[in-house]
Parts: sequence; structure tokens; C-alpha cells
Amino acid sequence: MATLGIPQNTISVLQKYHFNFQKKFGQNFLIDTHVLEKIIAAAGITKEDFVLEIGPGIGTMTQYLCENAGQVVAVEIDQNLIPILQDTLSAYDNVTVINEDILKLDIVKLAEARNGGKPIKVVANLPYYITTPIIMGLFESHVPIDSITVMVQKEVADRMQVGPGTKDYGALSLAVQYYAKPEIVANVPPNCFMPRPNVGSAVIRLTRHEKVPVEVEDEKLMFAIIRASFNQRRKTLANGLNNSPEIRLSKEIIQESIEELGVPVTIRGEALTLEQFAAFANIIKKKLET
Ligand code: SAM
Repeated sequence: MATLGIPQNTISVLQKYHFNFQKKFGQNFLIDTHVLEKIIAAAGITKEDFVLEIGPGIGTMTQYLCENAGQVVAVEIDQNLIPILQDTLSAYDNVTVINEDILKLDIVKLAEARNGGKPIKVVANLPYYITTPIIMGLFESHVPIDSITVMVQKEVADRMQVGPGTKDYGALSLAVQYYAKPEIVANVPPNCFMPRPNVGSAVIRLTRHEKVPVEVEDEKLMFAIIRASFNQRRKTLANGLNNSPEIRLSKEIIQESIEELGVPVTIRGEALTLEQFAAFANIIKKKLET
């Protein structure tokens, strides 16, 4: 099968199967061999690797993954793409296609059954409408992961990478940075896709920390505090927490805890670093216990 990264080959396959793009599935297929090579290089794929691809489409990146990895499992929701994938991937015996919604699949079980629970690499040109649930699901369900190298909307890649004091900083930045080291490895313009998306894209690599970078006694509490502080961005940290249904603490205790953290009581959540959120969660945890 010819390389699908070359636009004419993608067009031929789409015509052969009378394929209609489904907007609701975020279908924008890659048609640029340089970008595909960059993704494979950034992910550092070797024959030792077990790779999970989310949303293979017609198999454009899957072909590159099969050439470079040991085993590939590709999970695609659109059943119309399954016969196409059988055709475009017929030369490879190291790939399994699963017709399933990635958000419903038990990936921990998959990694256990297929890779003996050893860390896997995730590589994908993600469907943008579910970027955050996919990435948070991978981290929070404790799938054994080495790295996640994905194409996402440029703005979302920026949000994952920034720190306090920038407009893009938020709950996603903190969650991603708690679990992994984010690095944008390429910016990708709309003309590298068919059809062209309305937004710019970027490839970001998230390398999982061997040990989380902060000491936090209760992860769930820390993330509840983070969500509460960013739900009402323009409000102070104290007001954000007071108004949160998730955090049940008196105004006085919240104020005392902020003082104990050593920052002004009028501070906004968006000014706090991950280390400060962790320290703050530990202070609150103690107060909840006494
Ligand atoms: N990997 C292909 C490429 O680069 O050309 C296609 C990428 S396209 C941006 C996203 C793919 O994800 C589509 O094939 C779409 O059908 C699939 N998809 C969308 N939602 C999905 C879901 N919930 N689970 C699995 N695949 C999904």
C-alpha cells in the first residue's frame, strides 16, 4: 500500500471507498510526510515499543508506527473506517485495530493483556473535541505510560505548557505538569490536513514523571482546590473556594490556610504554582482532619 501521507494517495483511498468525513468525530487526516516523520521521531519509537494509537483514521500514521514499533494497537470509533484500515494496513502483522470509543475502553486492561503491564507509548493525531478527557483519562486511570505524543489544537498545547501569570494557565496546565513534562515539538498549519481544520495545531510530547514533582497527601483534594480556583478565574482564591460545592470549609479556615501558605489573602488562584497548590492542599488536609 502506498504511503498515505502523500495527498494523492489519501485522495485515491477516500475515492475508492466513497468515504464521507464525519465532523462529529473530528476527522482531519494528515497529508504531510514531514509532519508524520517528526511525530515518529519525537515519540522516539523503537522496535521495543508497544504503541497505542487513538483514532487511526485511514491509517496514515499507523503505517509509520507499524514500520517503527514492535506492536501497535489502533482504536477507531468510526466503523466505516475499519474496512479501509484492513486494506491500508494489510502489509503489517504487528497491528491490531479495535473498533471502539477510546473513552469507553479499559486501557489499563489492554496494557496488561498486550504488554504485560509495562509502560506503553501513546501516539495520536487526536480528535480535538475530546482532547482533555482523553489525556486526563490516561493519567488519572494510572495507565502505565512512558510518553504521550499527540497532535492537538495549538491553543490547547500552549495551555498544557505554561506556568502562572499567563492567560492560558489553568487546571489543564497544572494537571498535565503534575503527571508529565510537556514539550511542544512542532507547530502544524491547517494545510497539512484534509479537510483543513479552522485552527492551528501543534505536536506536544508529554513525558511521564518517574516520580511526581510535588509532595501532596491527597491528590483528589488538590485537584478539587485547583478546579475551584479556576472555575471563577477573576475571583480571589478565597472566594473561589467559598463558592465551590466540592470544598466544604468555613471562610475563616480558608483565610487561615491562605495565610499559613505565606501569600496575601487577596491572591488569585491563577497566581499559584503547582508547588503552592500542593502545599495549600496539605495545609487544608490537616485542617480537615482536626
Ligand atoms: N490518525 C489519522 C490521521 O492522522 O490522519 C486521523 C486523525 S483524526 C484528527 C481523528 C480520528 O479519531 C478520526 O479517525 C476519528 O474518527 C477518530 N475518533 C474520534 N473520536 C474517537 C473516539 N472517541 N474514539 C476513538 N477514535 C475516535
